[in-house]
Amino acid sequence: MNVNENKKIGIIAKVSGPLVVAKNMKDVQMYDVVRVSDKRLIGEVIELRGDVASIQVYEETAGIGPGEPVYFTNEPLSVELAPGLIEGIFDGIQRPLDVIYGEAGDRIPLGIDLPKLDRERLWNFKKKVEVGAEVSGGDIIGFVQETPVVEHRILVPPALSGTITAIHEGEAKITDVIAKLRTPDGEEVELTMLQRWPVRIPRPYKRKLAPREPMVTGQRVIDTLFPIAIGGIAAIPGPFGSGKTVVQHQLAKWADADIIVYVGCGERGNEMTDVLNEFPRLKDPKTGESLMMRTVLIANTSNMPVAAREASIYTGITIAEYYRDMGYRVAIMADSTSRWAEALREMSGRLEEMPGEEGYPAYLSSRLAEFYERAGLVETQGNENRIGAISAIGAVSPPGGDTSEPVSQATLRIVKVFWGLSSALAYRRHFPAIDWLRSYSLYEDDLYDHFNKLKPDWSKQVQQAKDILQEESKLEEIVRLVGVDSLEFSDRLTMECARSIREDFLHQNAFDEIDTYTSLEKQYGILKAILAWYRLAKDALKANASFNKIINMKVRERIGRMKYVPEKEFAFEFEEVMKELNSEFQNLTRGDDFYA
Ligand code: ADP
Ligand code: MG
Repeated sequence: MNVNENKKIGIIAKVSGPLVVAKNMKDVQMYDVVRVSDKRLIGEVIELRGDVASIQVYEETAGIGPGEPVYFTNEPLSVELAPGLIEGIFDGIQRPLDVIYGEAGDRIPLGIDLPKLDRERLWNFKKKVEVGAEVSGGDIIGFVQETPVVEHRILVPPALSGTITAIHEGEAKITDVIAKLRTPDGEEVELTMLQRWPVRIPRPYKRKLAPREPMVTGQRVIDTLFPIAIGGIAAIPGPFGSGKTVVQHQLAKWADADIIVYVGCGERGNEMTDVLNEFPRLKDPKTGESLMMRTVLIANTSNMPVAAREASIYTGITIAEYYRDMGYRVAIMADSTSRWAEALREMSGRLEEMPGEEGYPAYLSSRLAEFYERAGLVETQGNENRIGAISAIGAVSPPGGDTSEPVSQATLRIVKVFWGLSSALAYRRHFPAIDWLRSYSLYEDDLYDHFNKLKPDWSKQVQQAKDILQEESKLEEIVRLVGVDSLEFSDRLTMECARSIREDFLHQNAFDEIDTYTSLEKQYGILKAILAWYRLAKDALKANASFNKIINMKVRERIGRMKYVPEKEFAFEFEEVMKELNSEFQNLTRGDDFYA
């Protein structure tokens, strides 16, 4: 945007950190982008009263002051949607960080005017419709192979319809005209591969559908105990160091999604550096290509201005919606929404709004809901009956891990899956530290129907595992009071089984090559073996077998190693374990062994 073209200008009245108040602003609209001072800092109008505007500035405001100009752009804060998003690394207002770092090092120059998406790159556009075709919003007019694994579908912009009067094929830049369309009013509209969309407005779709299918993540505690649906919404609250980021990364790597949008929102500065370094090097297990080939990264580290965090989740979800509209299953991770809420709180404080609980604005819940509501399973616009999905997973980092604070509470009222991380588990290095006693999935019933089609006793088995873990927590209480010796052997057996569920099944090392991902088949098999041991052990105990011998059976070690067995060998290993289990029990309950 060239400032000389901006005729109207406002005048700065006050600067308070990222908040700038300006007068003479009656010709702007809410959420318009403005350029602040001759440094042309990027700002967004977040409050309008008469001719006074409050502007949230996305860059460092030090050194600017009253009397300086504010330039209008008369455009809302928008993202650019076109080929080139995937593999992109953007900040909260979609500035291309990789390009900026390349040109200017890691301090972003103020007021920088770089295109959000590469204007020079050529894409090979293949048309899907011919001249004369009647099209409307969301219809696919052609394709571009964006990366080896992502076919970018070029859509008619949402509000447009008419007859195609020209369409080209071949190499094109995103701003080149690839097609023309005559609207019912006779107006001729040029179509490019580039669309803009205001970040704060959800993109339209035909209708929402109820999520029914699981989004398989390969994480055992998630898929088996607390599954999330495709198009589902989940929260991961947990204190510092409890494993929120590792869970988010695991989902980005392994979740059954076509496109990943990862919003890193102001936790430790080096955390995003990890993502930036790690993701390009990671191989996508499904395609063998770099994980970045289906990933968009939005990075706002804690050393960037606070306001840019506020925008980042809108930028992220708008990009997610765009790929959803193509008919893809998108997963968006926001790490952490608490940092985002703190940005909201800071701006609210500076706006001198009436503070709600713990200083957060009263609209905290509605803003959070607006974000999560943009996730879901939908029938998209367009004539192909495409189904697209956005699954959203937000990390929450309550201070001290206490989820009674406002951000956790507001989030929990919205999301359907709660993976509560426990500092006690993390301290014991039980990872993922998802607390099986507190966590839940409201998709469970629908998803168990799906799992039961795979394995008829899936939900029965899971319920049994959950019951045993519940029972363990009660028994632990008794043990704490009166010691383990006071327990019946049958109860001690239950505790042994619970330990096995925890250590051999729930505990999963994200950094182990094999353990990092477990198929549903294998998840079922491991749990089956653990519960089979328990059932046979109870029988053996009733038949007076020695408790010590039962709990020290050799096969138990083998069960403990099942998670490290490669997927390909698992079916065989499972058979072997079950055989060994039976024969060892037979030996145990036979002859002299029996009474030893
Ligand atoms: P948070 O984001 O909640 O502050 P992190 O995700 O950074 O916490 O996790 C902190 C540390 O815990 C990691 O660096 C790692 O050592 C360990 N950790 C967390 N989850 C796992 C896991 N699934 N497997 C192995 N180690 C883990
Ligand atoms: Mg973290």
